[in-house]
Parts: sequence; structure tokens; C-alpha cells
Amino acid sequence: MRKKVKILNVAIDTVSREEALKIAIGYIENQSNKRIYTPNPEIVMIAQTDGNVMRLLNEGDLVVPDGIGLIIVSRIKKLELKERVAGADLADNILKFCGKEKKSIFILGSKPGVAEIACEKIKEIHPDIIIAGYFHGYFKETEDEAIIEKINNVNPDVVLVGLGAPKQEIWIDKYYKRINCKLIMGVGGGIDICAGTSKRAPIAFQNLGLEWFYRLVKEPWRLKRMLVLPKFLIKALRS
Ligand code: UDP
Repeated sequence: MRKKVKILNVAIDTVSREEALKIAIGYIENQSNKRIYTPNPEIVMIAQTDGNVMRLLNEGDLVVPDGIGLIIVSRIKKLELKERVAGADLADNILKFCGKEKKSIFILGSKPGVAEIACEKIKEIHPDIIIAGYFHGYFKETEDEAIIEKINNVNPDVVLVGLGAPKQEIWIDKYYKRINCKLIMGVGGGIDICAGTSKRAPIAFQNLGLEWFYRLVKEPWRLKRMLVLPKFLIKALRS
């Protein structure tokens, strides 16, 4: 049995990056319809006022801490989170595994045209990966059924959903049972990163736990969203 810790009532797996990857590979090899969520403090705060988001996060099959704020709270409160497991790194390693084992992926999300470029770049890096299909993330709810059919027609091993949080988690929660895949995972802006239209912070920032700061400088419009971080820290440390 895996151990979970609760931060503001969101249960998060106490796994290292390596353990998270092993679990994900196990899903791809032996399971079906498994959900991976990568919550950060922002979505944990959304869950405080949105019962649906709280419920679905707690029902995730693997829920890893993507966000240094969660690790800070875990350290101060002596919880047992091992380290930050960035969704982008986990997704990268899943793609590496898919390339090695000739598994197939479907990419859903980001602006029209970007998922296609992401697929081309992924194929360049992992020539043996099977790109089963892709679709942009700006579709209407009335298109959901057609998208499910599109995915099921190609029966991919892995579906990466990048619609931003919590939209992607809500979409996954609503449909994962009907999607023929082994693993479905929310990747936020990960498709943009694969396509090269947005960049992750340099490794030094990541190692210092300052990826959020780099992002804020590059994308100042995030400030309003990020103001929730101090609120999260105060609320989580008081709880
Ligand atoms: N996005 C999308 N459909 C939407 C809204 C957003 O496909 O209706 C995409 C957007 O183009 C971007 C990603 O979702 O690729 C959100 O990226 P962000 O880095 O903001 O993710 P978050 O920080 O919310 O995880």
C-alpha cells in the first residue's frame, strides 16, 4: 500500500520521482484507465472552495506534489512528502519510456497547431514512439463526444491532457472511464514546453525551488494567480 499525506484535505502520494515513474510504467504495462494528477498549491486552494475538485483530486490513482509550496508545508509540518515531483519531468520520463517500448500516445490540449508541433518534436526525440493522434484544447463541451471517439479509434497507451488546471482534471475525471487507454495524465502547459512555444525555468531555478519565480518574471500576468501562494502557506501551516 502506498502512503499518502493530506495537505488541506488533499491526499498526496509520498513518492519520489523514481517511484512515481515506476508506478506510471506499471500502469502503462499492466493497467487501464489510471489517472495521474500533479497538484500544486493553486489547485489545492481551488479545492478548498470547490468540492468537485477536492473529490476528484482525492480519487486520483497517483497524485504527486508538483509545487515547492507543498514540499515546504510538508517539511515544516513533518509530513512525509519525499521531494517535488514536477509533472513536466514525470511526463518527460513517461515519453522516454514510451519511446523505448514503442508505446502510443495521444496529446490533447494547447492552442491549435501547438499539439501538432509538440508531436513532431516528441517524435524527433523518441523516434520509436507511436503518435496515435492529437487535438487542440480549445474545444466546446459539445465536441467532447467526438474527441472521445477520436481517441478511442486509435486506442493509445497514454493520453496527455494539457488544458490548464483545474480544467484538465475536471475533463479527465468526467471521461477517463470511457477512454480506452492505460494512463491519462494532466500536464498543464507541458504541451507548450514539448512544442518549444514555452520554456521551463533553467535547472538552477528548479533546484532552488524557484521555478515559480522564473515563471512569474516571464509571464507577469500570473501574478494574480500566484498571490494565492502566501495564502496557501498560511492556511496549510495553521491547519
Ligand atoms: N489550454 C487549453 N484549453 C483551454 C485553456 C488552456 O488547451 O481552454 C491550454 C493552454 O493553451 C496551455 C495550457 O492549457 O497550453 C495551460 O498552461 P498553464 O501553464 O497555464 O497550465 P497550468 O499552470 O494551469 O497547469
